[in-house]
Amino acid sequence: MEHLWSPWRMEYIENHKRDAVCVFCWAPQQEDGPENLILYRGRLNYVILNRFPYTNGHLMIVPYDHQAELEALAPEVRAEMMNLAAQAVQVLKAVYHPQAFNLGMNLGTAAGAGIADHLHLHVVPRWSGDTNFMSTVAQTRVLPEALEVTYRRLREAWERLVIAPAP
Ligand SMILES: [Zn+2]
Repeated sequence: MEHLWSPWRMEYIENHKRDAVCVFCWAPQQEDGPENLILYRGRLNYVILNRFPYTNGHLMIVPYDHQAELEALAPEVRAEMMNLAAQAVQVLKAVYHPQAFNLGMNLGTAAGAGIADHLHLHVVPRWSGDTNFMSTVAQTRVLPEALEVTYRRLREAWERLVIAPAP
């Protein structure tokens, strides 16, 4: 077990504000790996691990467009977002065998969005006995697996199951 992220998160947010750079615009400008946490790049959206996960395997589908309003996204962006969500569910089932999933968006700060200016779709694997996703955004979490381990496992599974599936 390891304690994760609360102090670092504050630093992260402060840096983010000081630099006025959107983290969801910043991430795809980096090389993919355990630093930027991007698992897969689609044509119009990418898939990224949540740096402050609710459960192991908590990831997000993010449009490259810096856009807050769902209705302003082009239809093909929305369509690819849902296709990637389905692939994410497939990969997470194979790696973590969760009992259930939450998929959802917090549109706007009042809805609980951490980064309200750049919308994103959460995909959260669930097990009975874990606590409520929506109510735990700012708290320190204790998870049984390090983020870098999660990253490598999911990246390998995405390659095997989605990019190069067995015939
Ligand atoms: Zn952005």
